[in-house]
Amino acid sequence: MTNLLLKVEHLKKYFPIRAGLFSTNKGEVKAVDDLSFELYEGETLGIVGESGCGKSTTGRAIMRLSEPTSGKVTFDGVELTALSEKEMRKMRRDIQMVFQDPYASLNPRHTVERILEEPLIVHGIGKAKERKEKVHEYLEIVGLSAYHAKRYPHQFSGGQRQRIGIARALMTNPKLIIADEPVSALDVSIQAQVLNLMQKLQEDLKLTYIFIAHDLGVVRHISDRVGVMYLGRMVELADSDSLYEEPLHPYTQALLLAVPIPDPLHHREPIVLEGDIPSPSNPPTGCAFHTRCPYASDICKVTAPLFRKVKPGHSVACHLYNDVQH
Ligand code: SF4
Repeated sequence: MTNLLLKVEHLKKYFPIRAGLFSTNKGEVKAVDDLSFELYEGETLGIVGESGCGKSTTGRAIMRLSEPTSGKVTFDGVELTALSEKEMRKMRRDIQMVFQDPYASLNPRHTVERILEEPLIVHGIGKAKERKEKVHEYLEIVGLSAYHAKRYPHQFSGGQRQRIGIARALMTNPKLIIADEPVSALDVSIQAQVLNLMQKLQEDLKLTYIFIAHDLGVVRHISDRVGVMYLGRMVELADSDSLYEEPLHPYTQALLLAVPIPDPLHHREPIVLEGDIPSPSNPPTGCAFHTRCPYASDICKVTAPLFRKVKPGHSVACHLYNDVQH
């Protein structure tokens, strides 16, 4: 039985909207609204949704880089949401992030050696010589070479920079990596290389991943399970095969139609998504997806559907499945 590594319970992150001379509170943006899920050692959970759905905020709130408004996050038996700032900084040794834009996240004035050494210095790991050796070792592990250590970020290609970003995340031997759109800024041909590298590292180093993306195609092969978010909430969560073969939520079905299908005989009726994603500061009543859903009925406009399990390993928040027995 695989061990539970991360448990997220009713996580909320609301941002106040302030306006006017005295910065009075004009409401709030519910970036993450009552999110619950579990993550097991060695697995990859993909989290997918359009921009503004709260997926990146979820990653930051788990690490408390963005302080949660409420809810509980437990990592490896430790309740992160109950830790002091100082204790949390120590815990970040075990939870690291890989960012979308490696160029923006790497200090352009520092050599790669300095960039990779920094997490070790921050966490007081090793002596100078050991740290340098580890930098060289991890450059090799991510497919670069020790001679790259003295170079600066601008001397690398986008794909190589993301390898440096991954190496930096690995320096403290973390258990969990939260990768926030790690391949979105890369050319398609390079994306596959970085995804393959991440998969190999996961096997070799026994890593657990949360892999955030805006496209269901990108996370398909790397994810054991996939969660789909819409306006701060999880609307569907399932094993990868189940989600891609039989998506239940109309939003997931629409997102999947944006992913090219290798088999031209596999025909799916298109679902047309009406309108833009609504503002998270003023989400629609009832089911937040009702303004764009082709199946919306009266109940959808007034009552939010519960997120519930409708089959083994497959949960969904949609009134279409209210009668399903499980
Ligand atoms: Fe569509 Fe209603 Fe289901 Fe929401 S609850 S996804 S509006 S059918």
